[in-house]
Amino acid sequence: AQVLVVRETAPGERRVAATPETVKKLVALGATVHVEADAGLSAGFTNAAYEAAGARLADAASPGAANLVLCVQSPTVAALAQLSPFAAIVGTLQPQADEARAAALSGDTRKVFPLERLPRTTRAQSMDVLSSQAGMAGYKATLIAAELAPRFFPMLTTAAGTIRPSKVLVIGAGVAGLQAVATAKRLGAQVEGFDVRPETREQIESLGGRFLDLGVSAAGEGGYARQLSEDERTEQQRRLAEHLKSVDVIVCTAAVPGRPAPKIVSADMARGMKPGSVIVDLAAETGGNCELTQPGQTIEEAGVVIAGPLNLASMGAVHASEMYARNVYNFVALFLKDGQIAYDWNDELLAKTVWPAAPAQKPSSTPLQEPTP
Ligand code: NAD
Repeated sequence: AQVLVVRETAPGERRVAATPETVKKLVALGATVHVEADAGLSAGFTNAAYEAAGARLADAASPGAANLVLCVQSPTVAALAQLSPFAAIVGTLQPQADEARAAALSGDTRKVFPLERLPRTTRAQSMDVLSSQAGMAGYKATLIAAELAPRFFPMLTTAAGTIRPSKVLVIGAGVAGLQAVATAKRLGAQVEGFDVRPETREQIESLGGRFLDLGVSAAGEGGYARQLSEDERTEQQRRLAEHLKSVDVIVCTAAVPGRPAPKIVSADMARGMKPGSVIVDLAAETGGNCELTQPGQTIEEAGVVIAGPLNLASMGAVHASEMYARNVYNFVALFLKDGQIAYDWNDELLAKTVWPAAPAQKPSSTPLQEPTP
């Protein structure tokens, strides 16, 4: 297999889909790995480091030779047109986010693996890019909140008197939310979290946070949340509005797969917080958990600062890339063996991740129909 690691071109994207460590492992699987020049630079990996790991620096003019393309975000439509129609593409491709992209990605001979489609089973954990990147996002969101807040997070006893710790509320306790709880706790804040999945109580508490019980439980399928009913939502809102008056910082991380982010903090609730309060809305990418959130911007309303940072994982590009690259390697190892690409469509991790839809069940190990050069 000829593997190509692309240099990301999406604005603000600093991560890379393979590191020298994973290049070495791909080479050990028999692949020839080409890395676009400077692909890893913004994540701290030099061309020389990739070469030392066994990669060749790719000639940007010949991406058509690759039969396995690794990326973080989808290449542009123009870049996709340069790729071989036989190339498999692995990345967080979000094909449905853009019609032109969907058209450019699809093709009879192409195998497209948007990693966000990976089933979240135990076996898939080592490939779960949503989890690994959410961890960094939750961490960074909390640091942004600490930076924007006009107060200390920890309690301090000083000659100038005692400073009480900040009260941080984390909304949504999935992977990002739990990392936000842990990070705020490490900074010394008094941390609370809530989620509609009841099992998160124990998880929040094990990190030293307090579970905020709003009397709403909405566990859905596959360990995810379901959307709340109108009544449930009203009840959640009523209890939360009261509680927010005593909170200094909110980190919003609530999400429901495949849907816009649930609106949990209304404009009135945000404006009703104490002046000097801060809301960092990690859900900004899918519309935000706060009604006032403006994706990509930091605004101030009634003395409350509301930030909607985008692509937080990219802000921690070194470690986010290390984790992402290992996820990608573990996924690729499902179908790259002895230098050859062969898909076992009985493997649900491949069958459920491939886009548009899984081919009908075929005998094990269908080799890629491709002319050998
Ligand atoms: P996510 O990013 O989709 O959602 C974040 C959180 O928001 C979730 O915990 C969700 O319950 C919560 N939420 C949704 N609506 C809400 C509302 N109205 N109010 C408050 N909170 C709300 O979730 P995620 O972090 O990607 O993962 C969520 C679940 O998936 C967890 O149970 C996690 O353990 C599970 N998971 C399992 C695996 C695995 O076994 N391989 C891997 C990753 C995640």
